[in-house]
Amino acid sequence: MTDLGSVLPEDPLRDDVEQFARAHRLAALSRALDSRPEFPWKEFRSMGKDQWLGLTLPPELGGRGLSLVRAGLALEEFGYRAGTTFAKLSLQPEFSSVIAAQGSEELRRRFALPLIRGEVLVGNQITEPRAGSDLSHLSTRVERKGERLRLSGVKSQAAFAADAQAAIVYAQTGSGTAAGISAFLVPQDLPGIERRVVEDLGERWMRRGTVTYSSVEIPDDHLIGQEGRGLDYLKVELTHERALLAAIYLGVARASWEETVHEAGERVVFDGPLSDQEAVAFPLVEDGTRLAAAWLYTERVLERLDRGDRADDGAAMSKWLATEVALTTLDHAIQFHGGRGYSKDLPHEQRWRDVRSGALAHGTSEVMHRVAARRRWPKPKRPARAPS
Ligand SMILES: Cc1cc2nc3c(=O)[nH]c(=O)nc-3n(C[C@H](O)[C@H](O)[C@H](O)COP(=O)(O)OP(=O)(O)OC[C@H]3O[C@@H](n4cnc5c(N)ncnc54)[C@H](O)[C@@H]3O)c2cc1C
Repeated sequence: MTDLGSVLPEDPLRDDVEQFARAHRLAALSRALDSRPEFPWKEFRSMGKDQWLGLTLPPELGGRGLSLVRAGLALEEFGYRAGTTFAKLSLQPEFSSVIAAQGSEELRRRFALPLIRGEVLVGNQITEPRAGSDLSHLSTRVERKGERLRLSGVKSQAAFAADAQAAIVYAQTGSGTAAGISAFLVPQDLPGIERRVVEDLGERWMRRGTVTYSSVEIPDDHLIGQEGRGLDYLKVELTHERALLAAIYLGVARASWEETVHEAGERVVFDGPLSDQEAVAFPLVEDGTRLAAAWLYTERVLERLDRGDRADDGAAMSKWLATEVALTTLDHAIQFHGGRGYSKDLPHEQRWRDVRSGALAHGTSEVMHRVAARRRWPKPKRPARAPS
């Protein structure tokens, strides 16, 4: 039978992840954070110290400078060992890589370096109550008042709303279209900022929420890169993130799949092992095959990105595919463990809740299809309107 375990390449990095996860008891901690949500500062610092933050970021900033394929392998293993929690934490500097790629020396020194060392948490604030999938309608605005910049608006659904010391805020500086959106680094302790946390289905340790900016004065050198280029930078970052997130979800599902295969061999029903029942065995062999196929697809996309090929469509569809395959596998894990599968005694229900975010965060599954469809059938450019 083909399964994800058998198609993953050998890499000492995977053994290193295993050792780190065991030494810091990450699996148990991930489960504890589900019932007592808080940011795991101690482990975040340890991850920084052992270079598990900034896997793909340049060594001069403290990153490992890994290829996306190898980073994907490490993240798959983190997902396998301890659910989405520490895998996503490992990816946090990549979620903010616009600072490393476009920020001034000063912003890189003050925020990118300490983030990769696990000393500072930087969030990303893009979504607004009236603009999520359609980012051209962002209305949070930065106005220049003489020497000063003033930020006003509401950012919603942001991970780490409660805990981030700084956030990359995407805001209008222009005419109100997509071409007028710029990225700013905003310390979260400035006067005029209010944060409200929402309660989530899964990944509760992220303490997502709404951040309201009421005419907040921000330093004028906190613009990241060029004015009006915010969404261009974000698109590059999101493409890499989506393919790496796919690797995480597949790793999480691999853990439940292996545990369910074991259970099916041990559990006795109707005088024989559960695996004798085709109603159970057939879906399990399908899941193993789907996990393997989804990994091979994801790996190809990561390779294309490593080569510098354009693969935004592949990255989008790898996140969609991995999320679907993982959720089906996790649902089967809950089902085939019987009533215990539905309980918190076993890890499958938390894994399902955590992976469920994959169909929403970093672009919804519907938007992933839209990205791929637009690539295949590009929208014809509208002719410029003649002046009246
Ligand atoms: C766990 C989690 C973490 C998150 N972290 C962050 C974060 O750190 N920072 C941040 O800024 N945001 C974050 N988000 C928000 C996330 O990016 C948005 O929820 C997502 O982009 C969708 O936007 P929306 O919620 O406004 O839904 P909408 O855009 O209003 O969409 C509603 C529904 O309509 C569908 N839809 C919309 N447009 C189309 C279309 N063209 N075709 C077909 N269907 C469509 C969507 O797929 C969805 O099902 C997070 C979300 C989650 C769940």
